[in-house]
Amino acid sequence: MSHKKTCKWYTACPLKFFYEKSRLDKKWVEGYCFGDFLKCARYKMEEEGLSHPDNMMPDGTIDRRLK
Ligand code: SF4
Repeated sequence: MSHKKTCKWYTACPLKFFYEKSRLDKKWVEGYCFGDFLKCARYKMEEEGLSHPDNMMPDGTIDRRLK
């Protein structure tokens, strides 16, 4: 079993909150937060100090069901 790193923003990320409330598909968390977080649009914007909405998904799309 491999042990990938978790995104350093995970504890503060709104997507963690949505996920724990069962409002977010686990594909996002498994694919990005516990996987390829360097490809996450939120991660990149966080690194650049750019603001982004809480309901922006790792691929940059907006999920209007979440707020
Ligand atoms: S959504 Fe992106 S920034 Fe947030 S914890 Fe997951 S990988 Fe990191």
